[in-house]
Amino acid sequence: MSGSAEAAAIEVTGLCKTFSQRKALDRVGIRVAPGEMVALIGTSGSGKSTLLRHIAGLIPADRLGGDIRVLGQNVQSGGKVSRDVRRIRSRVGFVFQQFNLVGRLTLLTNTLVGLLSRVPTWRSTAHCFTRAEKRAAMASLERVGIAEHAGQRASTLSGGQQQRGAIARAMVQRAQVILADEPIASLDPESSHRVLAALATLNREDGATVLVSLHQIDYAWRYCPRSVALKDGRVVFDGPTHSLTPELLRHVYGSSACWPAEGTSAPQAALTPPALHDARETQHGALSLFDHHCDPARAGCLN
Ligand code: ADP
Ligand code: MG
Repeated sequence: MSGSAEAAAIEVTGLCKTFSQRKALDRVGIRVAPGEMVALIGTSGSGKSTLLRHIAGLIPADRLGGDIRVLGQNVQSGGKVSRDVRRIRSRVGFVFQQFNLVGRLTLLTNTLVGLLSRVPTWRSTAHCFTRAEKRAAMASLERVGIAEHAGQRASTLSGGQQQRGAIARAMVQRAQVILADEPIASLDPESSHRVLAALATLNREDGATVLVSLHQIDYAWRYCPRSVALKDGRVVFDGPTHSLTPELLRHVYGSSACWPAEGTSAPQAALTPPALHDARETQHGALSLFDHHCDPARAGCLN
């Protein structure tokens, strides 16, 4: 079936995945409308990466393990990944925790890779891009605040810059759906906010649907109007992020539950993201404007 205007951007129905007799996903159902920015939260091992990898069509579900559609197209059904998955992936941007960019290529070339599905193969393999394409890639790097690093090898960029490079690539790709798997897991708070602000820009200005897994609730609270919480492979919460209660968080995270720090703005307030420009970013985040992760002095730890 071809996509329709009514189609959900992401639709997961009855998804089950078993690894060596252990259920990693248990009848997961999620429907994400076009233009939403949704956080996928849960402890380590709750199934976030497994779910995102299924939505990307990278792994098949159990044989009777449900269906996944992205932008109205079948990604997988009944344990079989669709033969059309590459075509669907050309409309999906991926921002994963590591291995986002090709280290030996410049940031600009990595960004241009977003055009892969739209330029002839010989041009992309020869890194032969037109001036207009390069201008578009530079404009995306500008939008995420890292244009001054365009000529730098990706391997020499900080983690946060690399993640923003992946987001610029998704902009060039004109991805309609972004799947981001813990994109800030190894970043300092300042860089984390810049990465999430860049994702929020892509969501708001380009209309991309974003599903982003986050280990920490603070960032979901600030950037994502809706959250889906996984626990032991099951959806235990799906609703407005600000309707999460301390009790629900305790259920999701157990004794490590941590209520957002006082002063953390509610999701819609992400409309004024912190400056994306990079001048003050350091590899290890000396400038930690938002460094309040589970700091008992500022945040309400629930245990
Ligand atoms: P999260 O991303 O929330 O930390 P994962 O999706 O990585 O969680 O893992 C969910 C569960 O599935 C865990 O118990 C993990 O050990 C298991 N799992 C994930 N991938 C594999 C795999 N390839 N083989 C076996 N078990 C796996
Ligand atoms: Mg994971």
